[in-house]
Amino acid sequence: MIKKFIRKILGVKDQRDLTEPVILGPDEHQIDPKNVSANAVRVTQTLQEAGYKAFVVGGAVRDLLLGVKPKDFDIATDATPEQVKRLFRRAFIIGRRFQIVHVMFGQDLLEVTTFRGAGSDNAPKDEHGRVLRDNHFGPQHEDAARRDFTINAMYYDPATQSVLDYHGGIEDIRAKTLRIIGMPEARYREDPVRMLRVVRFAAKLGFTIEPTTRAPIPVMAPLIDNVPAARVFDEMLKLLLSGHALACLKELRSAGLHHGLLPLLDVVLEQPIGMKFVTLALDSTDGRVKAGKGVSPGFLFASLLWHQVLEKWNAYRAAGEMPIPALHLAADDVLETQTDNLALQRRIATDMRDIWAMQPRFERRAGRAPYKLLEHPRFRAGYDFLLLRCASGELPAEIGEWWTEFYEAEGGERERLVAVASTREAAAPKKRRPRRGPRKSAGEGAPVQAQATAGGGDE
Ligand code: ATP
Ligand code: MG
Repeated sequence: MIKKFIRKILGVKDQRDLTEPVILGPDEHQIDPKNVSANAVRVTQTLQEAGYKAFVVGGAVRDLLLGVKPKDFDIATDATPEQVKRLFRRAFIIGRRFQIVHVMFGQDLLEVTTFRGAGSDNAPKDEHGRVLRDNHFGPQHEDAARRDFTINAMYYDPATQSVLDYHGGIEDIRAKTLRIIGMPEARYREDPVRMLRVVRFAAKLGFTIEPTTRAPIPVMAPLIDNVPAARVFDEMLKLLLSGHALACLKELRSAGLHHGLLPLLDVVLEQPIGMKFVTLALDSTDGRVKAGKGVSPGFLFASLLWHQVLEKWNAYRAAGEMPIPALHLAADDVLETQTDNLALQRRIATDMRDIWAMQPRFERRAGRAPYKLLEHPRFRAGYDFLLLRCASGELPAEIGEWWTEFYEAEGGERERLVAVASTREAAAPKKRRPRRGPRKSAGEGAPVQAQATAGGGDE
């Protein structure tokens, strides 16, 4: 009341009091309670019965308001992590930078966070102003102000079915606008990953980034270099697996974020030849995500980096290296740069190498070779990758079609296909496929074959 009065006499009419939420009832927000997970209700109820405040918060409320069933539910409360932990049978305090509680019900995991206070002025920061740790608790309105975007800063109470909105999130949802809370420059400095988040949400939700939220991004983008690689990688993975990867990459580019962010994006987005392949790969990834099918990060990154591998592969061959070792050297080079910058986990890097290393083997269709390849534990990924290479025009479509037939065929039919391919291979110019026995051109020939055979037996 007093604040309102002071503002009135000062003439600051339309500035909202950010310590008081706008409260919306079910008729106004139209959230379908059926979209709220039973476990989220259970957690908020338990906390409330113990005398604490508890709300569904963040992305879940945003999705509920958009009529989308949220994929996970985060809970915010004024209980401390210790107090939360005591109320649930399977609850674990995790995290250092931000302490949170994981509450488990069977396979379902809910993240319960204690309201964070304003006070990040005193929080430990790195020399660029990035907040390193923040476990300073505070009242709900401060927690709201600490969240990234207005549409991510709303609270839903399942008991009363009310939505609490401190920053005009509802209006922004309706106007399909992404607006950062507070001063954009300061918020990006505290946490540069917010620049990637805004791009992801814009692409995923089809929202527009409000101009003052967008303006500082190209200038501040280099701050992302100081963020631990693993965190950038996680965020990139979310972006690429959002089901809107292609839109995200376009958005990254138009926000001026692709440079230096990930070396792979520089390469990918600047090269028209690679773009066709990457577009096809991301398109199929988006399709799989939307259809609820699994996507392997290894396949995804193998696709994004393939043209870099190809380029190096060709360079090594031009320098006199044999095809198969040249491919491995190229893979080493690419993975080495990327593991530094991207914190690619070893498991993902191994998948990528497998997929790449299988590629030359798809061009050998005579004899036992195709049968051996079929038994490769990662055959399916390698084959899908081959199809992308064909679709992008890198390889003749006929190779992909042959493998599809071969893959789907039964015993006798397979032999017929191999026979046809063998005749064709025998007739094809020798240059493409190294063959057994001595050759005229010095250097190529037997050693290559030995390598290829070793490759064929390695699984
Ligand atoms: P998604 O659908 O991708 O899960 P989300 O909004 O739920 O989107 P989370 O990373 O799960 O994103 O974070 C949950 C909430 O925590 C966000 O909605 C936001 O309120 C807050 N948050 C997350 N990351 C940040 C950040 N870097 N800075 C400020 N607030 C953040
Ligand atoms: Mg979330």
